[in-house]
Amino acid sequence: MKSHSSITLLIALALTSATVKADRFNYLDDQNPYYVNLDFPKLITPQWIGEDGVDAVVILSIDDMRNSATYESYLRPILERLKQIDGRAPVSIFTNSIDPQDPQLQQWLKEGLSLEIHTIDHPCPCLSGGDFARAKSTYDRCVDLMTSIPNNRPTAFRMPCCDSLNTPSPRFWAEIFNKTTGQGNYLTIDSSVFNITTPNDPSIPMDLALDEDGDSRFEHYIPFDSFVNVIKDYPYPFVQGELCWQFPCVIPSDWEGQNVQRPFNPKTVEDMKHALDAVVIKKGVYPLVFHPHGWIRSSQIIEIIDHAVKNYGKRVKFLTFRECADRIQSNLLSGQSLRNKNGGDNGVRIVDLNDDGLLDVAIGNDQLRTTRIWDADKQRWSEFDFPIPIANSNEQFFSHSLDGTSLLVNTKASRGVWQLQNHQWKSNERMLTGLPDATATGLDAGLRMRDMDQDGFSEVITNTEVLRWEAEDLTWKPLPFSIPVGTSITNEAGLDAGLRFVDIDDDGLDDVIFSDDQNYSLHLFSDMKTGWNNKVLSGSRPEQNEIPIISLGGANNGSWFSGQYLWVQNEFTQGLPALVDRRSFDQLLANVPPKAKSPKAALNAFETQPGFRVELVAAEPLVMDPVAFDWDSKGRLWVVEMADYPLGLDGKGKPGGRVKFLTDTNGDGKYDTSTLFADEIGYPSDVMVWRNGVLISAAPNIWYMEDSNGDGKADIRTALFTGFGEGNQQHRVNGLRWGLDNWVHLANGDSGGVIRSSKTDETINIGGRDLRVRPDTGELQALTGQTQHGRNRDDWGNWWGANNSNPMFQYLLQDQYLARNPHISYPNPRHPVATLQDSPIFPISRVMSHWEG
Ligand SMILES: [Zn+2]
Repeated sequence: MKSHSSITLLIALALTSATVKADRFNYLDDQNPYYVNLDFPKLITPQWIGEDGVDAVVILSIDDMRNSATYESYLRPILERLKQIDGRAPVSIFTNSIDPQDPQLQQWLKEGLSLEIHTIDHPCPCLSGGDFARAKSTYDRCVDLMTSIPNNRPTAFRMPCCDSLNTPSPRFWAEIFNKTTGQGNYLTIDSSVFNITTPNDPSIPMDLALDEDGDSRFEHYIPFDSFVNVIKDYPYPFVQGELCWQFPCVIPSDWEGQNVQRPFNPKTVEDMKHALDAVVIKKGVYPLVFHPHGWIRSSQIIEIIDHAVKNYGKRVKFLTFRECADRIQSNLLSGQSLRNKNGGDNGVRIVDLNDDGLLDVAIGNDQLRTTRIWDADKQRWSEFDFPIPIANSNEQFFSHSLDGTSLLVNTKASRGVWQLQNHQWKSNERMLTGLPDATATGLDAGLRMRDMDQDGFSEVITNTEVLRWEAEDLTWKPLPFSIPVGTSITNEAGLDAGLRFVDIDDDGLDDVIFSDDQNYSLHLFSDMKTGWNNKVLSGSRPEQNEIPIISLGGANNGSWFSGQYLWVQNEFTQGLPALVDRRSFDQLLANVPPKAKSPKAALNAFETQPGFRVELVAAEPLVMDPVAFDWDSKGRLWVVEMADYPLGLDGKGKPGGRVKFLTDTNGDGKYDTSTLFADEIGYPSDVMVWRNGVLISAAPNIWYMEDSNGDGKADIRTALFTGFGEGNQQHRVNGLRWGLDNWVHLANGDSGGVIRSSKTDETINIGGRDLRVRPDTGELQALTGQTQHGRNRDDWGNWWGANNSNPMFQYLLQDQYLARNPHISYPNPRHPVATLQDSPIFPISRVMSHWEG
């Protein structure tokens, strides 16, 4: 009944909602392979395709090849159909072990296929058995084998079982993909993450995102609830760990289709077409995952090709992964690649430099220094110099004005700050003043730039201090706090020590969670004076409920944060449910009562259905502990405040409820004045404007109160009806509503009572019933019931009620009609219309353990 967050009064309006904008450069430091989302800057196809009029790229990619004959017979009709478009047959085959001399492979390469990597022996999960070396070996051997095929140049990898299991791990990308094989071979594209189209994407027509029943069209293809290998509404290539292009696969794959609705189902093919329609609208990529395993027919893949050709013509381009890599190199990266010839960092960064929602390119290596900004109007790149090599430099892009981008390089080789202004990087030596010098060792000294207070200006965080730019003094100045004692961003070797900045308590500000092989802790951020001073937990291993290891020996242990969970997937987690270790933020915060939110933070915490907006009209101190409100004819908002809930003001039942009215004196739509109308009322539950005053429900009475002399205070206080039961404070009379019958309706509250009208002395027992009254005459009558909280009607006079366990039921048969025949037997007049499980209104905030269930 009483909210634990800030007691503010918010009113829902039918418009759209706003979201907090995260620091747009943080992902460059983060180790979350699933960091992209609907709001993340995009890399649309026109930016890299190098061909006018192409909006979307389809990559038909078939998995699991060990035997070319099966694949030839399955693929042949598909290849012939593709050749009808432009003579090429672009299909990528993800291959396991195969004879590199097989002549079929040469035939395919001539026709335009590419042969890609799917590990030699297809382990699911790939990292398992505590044997990391085995996972690296099956990957490396496959890369080397595919590289040994004459005329083949493998580019892409797909993780075995990535559409059905939580098998990809951050450890795979960081320690296997982003390294090289013993022979020095490496790849540039991974296509193992799945992208789902959801109804939350406003650019997608609802009939694409929703099925005929109004349910999410694609969600049921996700194989199980805790499937984490998925991103939402982002069908674009994105970079993982600076070296790997991720080409997110489309949901559904053929396996995901047959998993929910049997093999060869036309519904799967229809949904694959709908998913393509969404990708064309968004100008993205469409890697389709399929197999010759009896889940989808060749002819059904051809149906999708026909759909693309017929509806989009040249707007859809069919390519292999190798062709995609080549086009990215030529058209996006000025001939460069994310990886240098040794497979290492080539100083190429994909980052939204001008904050227009589209990704740009920064290249700083020994061959080339160029900045490429995408001009969305002209649909082309504009290029200008980039100031410095940034390969392996731990450089930091940051913002120090509301729309500006700056670059800090702070390594052994070089040191400087450059500001991006009017397509030019300008050196700003002054911004080095007061900045810790990280050039001594050449190691990553842990300097990170993050906008901690969301004001658009980055702060500097190091292992030992936190600094803020003081524009007046032209220097970085230390703030009076640093990262928590016992935590560190980097270790002595300059490697990942196990610290992450994550907003665990959902207040919009990043907290510090730390976990290495010895210790773990969680500190919540308070403010810019005290920093991360709220220690929630800390300990040393081994302990029960310890935080899983985030970083082990300077390397990511396979951890990342998404969807309010810490996840760990590595070679030791295959025995756990869904192959992952995890801790929900709720578990981490189990003993922490939520802090009161500021009115602004409270607003941002709401998530509404599309088309709705929540606005703030009043907050403390104008209003406190509100439980109900009503408007009068002057536009004043009458609010009832149950300040004495649950045990009275003094803990012994002292009445402390209040009724106030709020006034908007300047007409700006927000209330600015509050007048205390009546106080010392015991647990008042509702207020309703009536005649020259208000009705107030406060068991045992229904009061009429009025200000007769215009001083804003109630001087007439009349108990119109008495006798309402004073049970539990959550179970008392409430719900004053005016009916179309011109009676005032009331919810019983569950405590019943023999009610007496003070005007007529008439009494009525309302056990098991609700009640209607006429305040002017004192008449009263029982109603079909009973309601615990809030009896309401719609504009057609249908009445609805609720109780703790039932969010809504309807009263279908009315007592006043049933009472005409005392002999009639009738069904239950109370009909449930919503359950807790399918309620459209639910808390998204953390629920304390004693409130659960
Ligand atoms: Zn496979």
